[in-house]
Amino acid sequence: MHYINAKTILSSKNGMNLYRGCSHGCIYCDSRSKIYNMNHDFEDIEVKENGIRLLKNALKRKREKVMIGTGSMTDPYIPLESNLKFMRESLELIYKYGHGFTCITKSDLILRDLDLIKKINENTKAVVQMTLTTADDELCKILEPNVCTTKERVNVLKTLNENNIPTIVWLCPILPYINDTEENINQILDYCIDANVKGILCFGMGMTLREGNREYFYKKLDEHFPGLKERYRRTYRNSYGIKSPNNKKLMKIFLQRTDEHGIMNNIEDIFEYLHEFPSHESTKQTTLM
Ligand code: SF4
Repeated sequence: MHYINAKTILSSKNGMNLYRGCSHGCIYCDSRSKIYNMNHDFEDIEVKENGIRLLKNALKRKREKVMIGTGSMTDPYIPLESNLKFMRESLELIYKYGHGFTCITKSDLILRDLDLIKKINENTKAVVQMTLTTADDELCKILEPNVCTTKERVNVLKTLNENNIPTIVWLCPILPYINDTEENINQILDYCIDANVKGILCFGMGMTLREGNREYFYKKLDEHFPGLKERYRRTYRNSYGIKSPNNKKLMKIFLQRTDEHGIMNNIEDIFEYLHEFPSHESTKQTTLM
């Protein structure tokens, strides 16, 4: 881990990244791609030392209340967050200045901040987004080795539901010849139905590979799935978008079952929902205890 002094903290769309790099170790991670020009090792996490001060100034200055989002490039609930508590401080500020919050994570560490997420949700809106890729926890430990397993994540989704926090599941990536089975998709959908999730984001049954993440993914295939790298190379060559041969069949199951259970499945609708700040009267600036 190393510190930097950042110039800004919020993107034009109110996205926030307090950290850069990630230690969860997902073998397919796109954030490793060369295109992002990371000038340090991916696991050597860059911490924005002045991130909280920048956030406070940015939130104070905003004329309109907005949804603050985090987690698209880096999971903010990485182990070092346990000590640094930057996320917790951010949530306190988001609550204090009356904004909304949404976060993508795979970690059960988010439950540490349930009290604040509840307060934001009661005041404005909070939505937690969680990624599920495999119903098989042993496979999960290979694909996403340094973060809690799918079953533990499902328990997080259930706890959030019990506390009236809406949840969105990212059903991706689906890796050809690894987790692209009917059994897997059906089991994950069962989990989502059970946890009463509001929506499931699925961009097609597949994954993306490009310079930087492809090399890492292939190295991990050699370690855990001997011979599979050659099959990927033969089938997909240097393609960026990698579609499972079972895409059509699996998408049919996904769409049918989500429709049956009233779970949002339209990508545009879900993103609109995530960005939409509620306009009801009760949204107000609050004072921290
Ligand atoms: S949690 Fe996200 S950012 Fe972290 S390694 Fe996994 S895919 Fe990459």
